[in-house]
Amino acid sequence: MTIASVDRTIRLISTGKAEGSTCTPDLAVDPWYFDDKAPGYGPGSSMGDVIPTGSPRQGELPARYRTASNGELGDWIRAAKATLGERVVVLGHFYQREEVLQHADFVGDSFQLAVATQSRPDAEAIVFCGVHFMAETADLLSTPEQAVILPNLAAGCSMADMADIDSVTECWEQLEELYGTEPDASGRVPVIPVTYMNSSAALKGFCGEHGGIVCTSSNAETVLEWAFERGQRVLFFPDQHLGRNTAKAMGVPLEQMPMWNPRKPLGGNTEAELEDSRVILWHGFCSVHRRFTVDQIDAARAEHPGVRVIVHPECPMAVVDAADEYGSTDYIAKAIAAAPAGSTFAIGTEINLVQRLAAQYPQHTIFCLDPVVCPCSTMYRIHSGYLAWVLEALVGGDGVPAEVLNRITVADDVADHARVALERMLAAKPPAAGPVAPVASVSTGA
Ligand code: SF4
Repeated sequence: MTIASVDRTIRLISTGKAEGSTCTPDLAVDPWYFDDKAPGYGPGSSMGDVIPTGSPRQGELPARYRTASNGELGDWIRAAKATLGERVVVLGHFYQREEVLQHADFVGDSFQLAVATQSRPDAEAIVFCGVHFMAETADLLSTPEQAVILPNLAAGCSMADMADIDSVTECWEQLEELYGTEPDASGRVPVIPVTYMNSSAALKGFCGEHGGIVCTSSNAETVLEWAFERGQRVLFFPDQHLGRNTAKAMGVPLEQMPMWNPRKPLGGNTEAELEDSRVILWHGFCSVHRRFTVDQIDAARAEHPGVRVIVHPECPMAVVDAADEYGSTDYIAKAIAAAPAGSTFAIGTEINLVQRLAAQYPQHTIFCLDPVVCPCSTMYRIHSGYLAWVLEALVGGDGVPAEVLNRITVADDVADHARVALERMLAAKPPAAGPVAPVASVSTGA
C-alpha cells in the first residue's frame, strides 16, 4: 500500500499553489513552534476559532526531538515500543497524520479507540494520538492503574471547546426556570441533555448527572430516540450540525430546532420558540467539516458522472442534503470497502482519512470534496517528535528514571457521572462499528 500523506497538500498550500484554499502556509512550520510562540489551535481548519482562556498548553519539546529527522524519530519510536512491549498501547485517530499513525496499535474513530483501551487492561500506559476529549474518554474507560498520555497537550478540539461547563450550566438554569422540572402526564421530563462524544468530560458528567446521555456520529439517531422516550425535548451540544442533520432525518421540523447562542439571554430565542422546541441546538460546529460546500458536490458530479458522494454528519445541512449519503468515519470506510471495484467516491471529511482510504483502495477512485482542504488543526499538533518524547520517557535509562509525561486524568466526581452517561449510550445500543481494529485489519480490503 502506498502510504498516504497530506504533505503534498501542505506543500501546495505553503507555496501558494493551492488555488482557492483558505488555509495558511504555516502548515509547513513544525508544530512545536506554536506551543510557545503562538498559542492557539495552530494552523489548519480551526486556526480562526477562539481558543478558551486556560486551555492546556504544551511545554517546550526537548531539542533532541525538534531537530531529529522523521527517519530518526521513527527509529526511536519503534525502539521504545519494542522495549516497552505489552506495557504500552498506542492509539491513533483516523484523522492523524500518517507519520504518527504508522506506529499505532489500534486505529479508529474516537469511540472505537475509547473501547480499544478496554481491550488492553494490562497495559500500564495508553498513548493517545488524538485530541484532548478522546484522551479523557480513554481515562474514563480504562482502569485507575493505567495512565492515559496525550503526546501534545495543545491538541484540543475547537468544536468541543465551543461548549464549556459554565455556559451549559447557565443555559440549563434558564431552561429549568422556563419549563420547570416536573414531568408531563406521560412521565417525560421537560429536557434531556445530550452531548456528542466530542465534548469535555465535564459535559459528559453534566449529562450523567441530569438524566442525559452521550452520542457518537454512529448512533446519534438511536440516542435521540432514547432521549425522546424520556423527555419532551433535547438540549444537544456542542455540534449543531450533527444534531440538526440527525433530528431532521427523524422528522423533526427545522422550526422546532432553535439554536442556543450562549452569549444571549434565552440563547437568543423567545419563550414561545423554546416552548415549541423539540431539539435545542448548541451554537457549535467543526471547522473541518464546515468547509465543505454544495458547489464542491456539484463540481464533483460534473467532473465524475456517477460519483458517489458521502459526507460526515458534522457537515452543514445543505451539504448533507446534497450528498448521496452521510455517515460517520466508520460508515464511510465500510461503504468504500463494500463497493465494487472501479467505484468513484467524493468524500466530505478530514483530508488525512480520505487520502489514506485512497491509498488503501487503489481499485477505486477516491478523492476529497475539497482537495486542498485544511487538515484538522489539533490533530496536526501531534507530531512523531512528541510521540517519541513520551515513549522514551516511559522507557527511561542512562540514569534517568522512567516517567509518565502529559498524563490526562478526569477528576473522580466528574468521572462517576460521565461514566453514567456513557453507560446509558452503550445500553441504548452500541454503535455498529467494530470497536477494536488492529492496524492491519483497519486497512479493510487493501
Ligand atoms: S475534526 Fe473537528 S471535531 Fe474532530 S478533532 Fe478536529 S476540530 Fe474537533
